[in-house]
Amino acid sequence: MNDPHSSLDQMPVTQLKGVGRGTAARLAKLSIFTVQDVLFHLPFRYQDRTRLTSIGSCTQGMEVVIEATIAASDIAMARRRSLLCILQDGTGSISMRFFHFSNVQKKNLASGARIRCFGEVRRGAAGLELYHPEYKVLQPGENIPLEQHLTAIYPTTTGVSQFRLRSMVEQALALMDQGQLLQDWLPQTIRYLEPLPNLIEAIHYVHTPSTDAPLDQLARGQHASQRRLAFEELLAHHLSLRRMRQQVQQQSAYSLAPVAKLTDAFIHSLPFELTAAQTRVCRDIGDDMGLAHPMLRLIQGDVGSGKTVVAAIAAVHAHENGLQTAIMAPTEILAEQHLLNFADWLAPLQISTGWLSGKVKGEKRRQQLSLIESGAAHVIIGTHALFQESVDFAKLGLIIIDEQHRFGVYQRLALREKATADGIRPHQLILTATPIPRTLAMSAYADLDCSIIDELPPGRRPVSTSVVPDDRREQVIARVRSACRAGRQAYWVCTMIDESEVLQCRAAEATAQQLTDALPELKIELIHSRVATNKKAAIMAAFKQGSIDLLVATTVIEVGVDVANASLMIIENPERLGLAQLHQLRGRVGRGSIDSHCLLMYHPPLSATGKQRLSVLRETTDGFKIAEEDLLIRGPGEILGTRQTGAMQFKVADLVRDSHMLSSVKAVSDQILASHPERVDAIVTRWLMRAEQFGTV
Ligand code: ADP
Ligand code: MG
Repeated sequence: MNDPHSSLDQMPVTQLKGVGRGTAARLAKLSIFTVQDVLFHLPFRYQDRTRLTSIGSCTQGMEVVIEATIAASDIAMARRRSLLCILQDGTGSISMRFFHFSNVQKKNLASGARIRCFGEVRRGAAGLELYHPEYKVLQPGENIPLEQHLTAIYPTTTGVSQFRLRSMVEQALALMDQGQLLQDWLPQTIRYLEPLPNLIEAIHYVHTPSTDAPLDQLARGQHASQRRLAFEELLAHHLSLRRMRQQVQQQSAYSLAPVAKLTDAFIHSLPFELTAAQTRVCRDIGDDMGLAHPMLRLIQGDVGSGKTVVAAIAAVHAHENGLQTAIMAPTEILAEQHLLNFADWLAPLQISTGWLSGKVKGEKRRQQLSLIESGAAHVIIGTHALFQESVDFAKLGLIIIDEQHRFGVYQRLALREKATADGIRPHQLILTATPIPRTLAMSAYADLDCSIIDELPPGRRPVSTSVVPDDRREQVIARVRSACRAGRQAYWVCTMIDESEVLQCRAAEATAQQLTDALPELKIELIHSRVATNKKAAIMAAFKQGSIDLLVATTVIEVGVDVANASLMIIENPERLGLAQLHQLRGRVGRGSIDSHCLLMYHPPLSATGKQRLSVLRETTDGFKIAEEDLLIRGPGEILGTRQTGAMQFKVADLVRDSHMLSSVKAVSDQILASHPERVDAIVTRWLMRAEQFGTV
């Protein structure tokens, strides 16, 4: 039936017994199209079905194989109707319960029948129980063999059972063993891999680990076979990003003339000198934009390091070359801040600003769209509304994305496709205030060039941070009073994670009311996402001018808000937020040359990890250190902002656990790109989702 010479990556999954067109369509949802895909569909955990457990030794939580006789079987009529069987094996008895069952099942599971079953022991109404165990009725004298290896449990989808997946894997492994081709694409001489099993051994092992396999090591993904596969998976992701980068380098972009009069005039018009780091990064950007292929540069800089002005310089540079710039921020409020700043900076140079967010509707929207389309708007600021189909730019030369981590790693790829009409791609600049640990940057941003603003403007004083329980609220309020009496301003941030937006806003409203009662002499305003856009802008402007003492807010002020006279930041329930986010919030103070304080007011009791996390903030104001800690405590998804989007998901690899592999991964990827570029595709498709490539089967 099978062509003995075909390689498994060419063999459609329908070649396997029991896989028809219907199943194939369901398997496509798991990104399984070929027999090779079956082999790379890796288990996420294992069960031990290699030995029988006596009923007498069952305890709650165990997954057990039991062989027993049904001592009694009846329909139980408790809250829900169920089929209840009492099993006995001479060492004790346990119940087996089915809420869904057929008449045939009921007949087969009659008193006196002997069965083999597998399930998790739970505590139920009738003592220890197995709910809906897998079972098989044994014929008199029948003796079926136990599993010879641990049982793999696979990620699955509706209509594809574990049993079916296991049978497919068995067949695929058999084909692999018969010598059908599963190509090992990695160079033979990778030092890291030398002590590890080869690809075929590793694939075999992870699907069918031997009875004596170290279950806990497997559970932690630390087995040598898993490490072998994790290495290749990291390599596949890395290569895929590198390949995208190569593709971008083959696209064309407007090549900008070097910075000239207008840009210089802008830099001189600033009320401060650029820091050495800012100057260096501006030079990187200028050099990139001089090339005829699109820039893809990530600017990392700690909060307050002055990324905005660097972006503005790039925008003026683009304008000087007759090109438009689009600046996209993740929130309306941050976009508005940018609009204010840019309009201030650019108007004197006769550079016009445009504005587009989801809230700009009707006639206003049509107006803005036509300014953008005619080229009358030079620098256009907005939210992701900027990148909708209906927006046509006259001559877009530069895209700037602020606070990129909010958009997710793979989302930026979509933006790249935003070509101008003549097929010329814009340059792209990405600003992020969440420093990305080096190891992570190497894998998640392998497609970007990276510049770091590693210097704060002179005169900044580090923010001192204290951690206080919320039963000291009175004292905290007193701190606010004295700071404001001294002519300073303060923020009070209410956090509510995973609650509805409405609830968040209500909580903030309640807090604002309470603070207004407690501090009648202060001018207090409230800002959150449901405050109308123009009211928000008015409040922010008033706070900036100093006519508001205390700004109560939800985390909407997290990014970008810039008021130098604000010197006190209260964050309620900081234990609910990630360190990087807290660091961002804290960065709203300490922007001038006055001493600033941040009070993290937690709700006791605080877990040990919670304490540890908050103390990191007390001890350091270095965003990179904080990011490293966040990575350890919360994992890469939090930092890269991909948890929501589900991107950057690995089958066996783990960016934190396997970070020691990354430099080796990079070296091997260099080697493959240089010597075996033809292998890149094979490695990438084996590991990355590719539903879109195949369409719907
Ligand atoms: P971030 O990097 O967090 O986005 P911003 O761009 O908002 O920081 O800059 C923070 C503040 O520092 C702004 O008020 C900005 O005008 C100011 N600033 C930027 N660069 C300098 C500099 N070289 N010297 C003094 N102040 C600066
Ligand atoms: Mg900023």
